Amino acid sequence: MSTQSSKHDNPLLDFSDLPRFGEIRPEHVTPALDVLLADANAAVDRASQPSTPASWADVVEPVERATEPLARAWGVIGHLNAVADTPELRAVYGENLPRVTEFWSSVGQNLALYEKYKALSASGEFPSLTAERKKILDNSLRDFRLSGAELPEDRKPHFAELQERQAGLSKGFSDHVLDATNAYSYIVENEAELVGLPDDVIEGAKEAAEREGLNNGADRQAWKFTLHFPSYFPVMQYSENRAMRETMYRAYVTRASEMGPTYGRGKPEWDNTANIAEQLKLRAEESHMLGYRNFAEVSLAPKMAESPAQVMAFLEDLATRARPHAEKDWQELRDFAANELGMTELQPWDMTFAAERLRQKRYAFSENEVKQYFPEDAVFKGLFKVTETLFGVKIRRDEAAVWHPDVRFFRVENQDGGLVAQFYLDLYAREGKRGGAWMDDARARHKHAHGAVQTPVAYLTCNFSAPVGGKPACFTHDEVITLFHEFGHGLHHMLTRVDELGVSGINGVEWDAVELPSQFMENFAWEWDVLSDMTSHVETAKPLPRDLFDKMLAAKNFQSGLGTLRQIVFSMFDMQLHVDFDPSGTKSANDLAREINERFHVVPQAAFSRWPNTFSHIFAGGYAAGYYSYKWAEVLSADAYAAFEEAAQAASGSVLDAATGTRYRKEILEVGGSRPAMESFKAFRGREPNIDALLRHNGMTPGATH
Ligand SMILES: [Zn+2]
Repeated sequence: MSTQSSKHDNPLLDFSDLPRFGEIRPEHVTPALDVLLADANAAVDRASQPSTPASWADVVEPVERATEPLARAWGVIGHLNAVADTPELRAVYGENLPRVTEFWSSVGQNLALYEKYKALSASGEFPSLTAERKKILDNSLRDFRLSGAELPEDRKPHFAELQERQAGLSKGFSDHVLDATNAYSYIVENEAELVGLPDDVIEGAKEAAEREGLNNGADRQAWKFTLHFPSYFPVMQYSENRAMRETMYRAYVTRASEMGPTYGRGKPEWDNTANIAEQLKLRAEESHMLGYRNFAEVSLAPKMAESPAQVMAFLEDLATRARPHAEKDWQELRDFAANELGMTELQPWDMTFAAERLRQKRYAFSENEVKQYFPEDAVFKGLFKVTETLFGVKIRRDEAAVWHPDVRFFRVENQDGGLVAQFYLDLYAREGKRGGAWMDDARARHKHAHGAVQTPVAYLTCNFSAPVGGKPACFTHDEVITLFHEFGHGLHHMLTRVDELGVSGINGVEWDAVELPSQFMENFAWEWDVLSDMTSHVETAKPLPRDLFDKMLAAKNFQSGLGTLRQIVFSMFDMQLHVDFDPSGTKSANDLAREINERFHVVPQAAFSRWPNTFSHIFAGGYAAGYYSYKWAEVLSADAYAAFEEAAQAASGSVLDAATGTRYRKEILEVGGSRPAMESFKAFRGREPNIDALLRHNGMTPGATH
């Protein structure tokens, strides 16, 4: 292994323009990282030397200059690992991941570097720095503090130990959930018990049984169902076998708890109850060491929400407003179940089933029929038109090396043809590509010290069905929404005008505000003006019929009152758990969950339910005291979108109002993370966000029926 490989030989070390996809091989990875990590470490060392002046030019700038290539190259490798996986690449990615992670955490804990940043903040240079640079420094100081850089030396090992134990417990939590999920199966041997289930679900269950030799085709027929969501959920939704629903429901909501062994082959060591209490104790201790009253304060420090009290007041308000609608949803469901399904007492395992029947009765339309109106070309024409009309840009095809023949490349230009940004579009699912949809940055906007501007480049990745039989690919409406969502993230990254890498585009944007531009874009995919223009039936070329659209719209808000309360219970539980809950006291986390459900929900929860024991978002997923951010960001995006609805009513007659779009581009998209999200929102909206628009979009305006 050599660190001498010439920069010209190794495409991963060429930063002159776009990544040289097509030339990058697994054997390039380790040598490139040898060079990049050595450069980055050297720059950090130089910047932290006692003799180095605490100035922007001697500390921040050189560290950024040496770490950006590392981040970019590692980004390319990570991207390829996600979209063009091979055993060789996966191996080399896995080998190098710890080196890269270790480098970044060593920077976060580098006390000498922290002292330089502090000295720069207190120096005579600080007042003369641009607002963007001040923000970068503030963010860095905050992150250093949160990773324990300010603790007395003799306390640091204990802090590190707390974090390590938390990481171990968090891993244990998700392992237990997975083990408990895997251990359970529900075997059906009598075909009559499958009544109500869709054919593909039955087929999947049959194949699962065959894989285990439970089904020999002759004297034994069997179907295997599991607690994995794609197997479990259709049972709740469609199975007319109430006993099967009850058994599986009980198993599902007691996974990884003391109730587990009763239902299935669970083991006491998979019970997450003690794990939860232990994690909460460690988080509280960590918070106290850092000088905070509780972990919720630590979690909110880098977020848009100002305090736990503010978050809880927000949730209470939303709960109060949603409650009458949830009560109505609940009453409707019970009436329907009693009158049409003959169920006088709705049990927790009947809820999803009854709701699905009611939904079908009220809003029946075929997803497949809708799909015929969304051929790929029409959808992209529509998406680009929305973008071009609102934000005054042009989108054209462009050329670049790609990692797969299906990948396309585009450029975003200003009206005068000047290059603003570029993006890769990798639309179709295929082998070796990770599932889901996401936006990632290939490089961010940055004005170099010598004045040249590096334009942003984004990756937009989806997993839609590829075209077959010479016909264009058609998208479901959900896929169209996904595309708009990811494109919204992309616009945030690409339309930034910020010159500083650390806060350009989505860099440095508060975590609970980052979904604003993405969810904002989704709204256009629900707008009649937009849809009537961007749909074209794949055979007849006719636009989407209005009555079909009306059904889609009505179905969108089906039972949204109940759905909202459910999210509030999760969010409030998460918040209270991290504010003043005592994990050593007599009340368990499950007791708190039950109390909160009683207070905020209209549907009682089953006495045996232990859902906190599988709440991986907050115990294994980085959402601790952060689950509220789903609803929080929805409020922001709905309220921002309402400005376009108001413009349509007041003046232009269309939500594609260019004046409002220009203001949105300038105040939200262009500024990226260079100022607090609340300031950006207020600059755009002229006031703080409020929840009215979200309630209206969810069909929950006061007094509204349907
Ligand atoms: Zn998103």
